[in-house]
Amino acid sequence: MAEEFVIPFTKEKVRVEDKRLINNRTVDVNQLVPIKYNWAWQYYLDGCANHWMPQEVSMQRDIEQWKDPKGFTEDERRVIQRNLGFFTTADTLVANNLVLAIYRHITAPECRQYLLRQVFEEAIHTHAYQYIPQSLGMDEASLYNMYREIPSIHDKAEFEARLTVDLMRPDFKADTLDGRQRLVSNLIGYFAIMEGIFFYTAFVMLLSFGRQNRLPGACEQIQYILRDESMHMNFGLELINGIRAENPEIWTDEFQEEIINKFKRGVDLEIAYGHDCLPNGMLGLTHDMLDEYVRYVANRRMETLKLPLLFDNPGNPFPWMSEIIDLRKEKNFFETTVTEYQVGSSLSWD
Ligand code: FE
Repeated sequence: MAEEFVIPFTKEKVRVEDKRLINNRTVDVNQLVPIKYNWAWQYYLDGCANHWMPQEVSMQRDIEQWKDPKGFTEDERRVIQRNLGFFTTADTLVANNLVLAIYRHITAPECRQYLLRQVFEEAIHTHAYQYIPQSLGMDEASLYNMYREIPSIHDKAEFEARLTVDLMRPDFKADTLDGRQRLVSNLIGYFAIMEGIFFYTAFVMLLSFGRQNRLPGACEQIQYILRDESMHMNFGLELINGIRAENPEIWTDEFQEEIINKFKRGVDLEIAYGHDCLPNGMLGLTHDMLDEYVRYVANRRMETLKLPLLFDNPGNPFPWMSEIIDLRKEKNFFETTVTEYQVGSSLSWD
């Protein structure tokens, strides 16, 4: 990959028609303009417009509620801690995959620009999942170690980490057919399954507390994270479809079968995770509802990727989740607090 840093002496300008999403060996990756993939540039602008930071959200009421011995049942404390345990390491896995495995193979500078924004958002999310447990005085070592100790969390992390390892092998090449399939398989594993399925049961469980005005500071942050994550996923699905259109030979029957099996495994892991976090129903949530929701979101991701659907018409038991995803930044979903995060224009330099 080092050749992109050997800058040739030439007066030839970059031509938009020569740009490619992956494996571009001829066009200068350091020149953002002329932009070919306008959608990617728009994701970058939208991501910046949604900027927020965890420490701007007060955790005062959460701390009072959490310290109250009658504030939460044992089952409720378990579900909160398991979901935070999953998330403390999940966003780090995503960030490491982007930086160490994906970034160098994406050769459209406008996509790299969004990936750089996304990586920073993953760091903000990792920050939020450090800030919330620290504010509440939770046992942080136990949360951070859950992906090694709790089977349902471990199995999801392990499923993803293997995809990163595939691309990090020293002999990996993205310009063979198999290499391009591994790359797309990694993108689907992270953007569609991790950010598109694995995060969603956890968001439902945590945000259900916010709907009862419990843990309002934690839930306000999780709303912002959900909004960011739905953009990451949509960007990723568009990227995958774009790579498929530019490299149609990747999409063999065998490869499609492999991807469908990945979705099946992802759905099984996510259903097991929901049952483990929530051994008994609570907060109006049942196993049936969580299972149905996993099937519903899996179908939606597969539909966007033009794959045959795995399930017959699952319904959405949590329509309120869509309202949060579509949240405009002026209003907090749970309260009417104005939460406009100004950037740039709010700074005074004199
Ligand atoms: Fe993400």
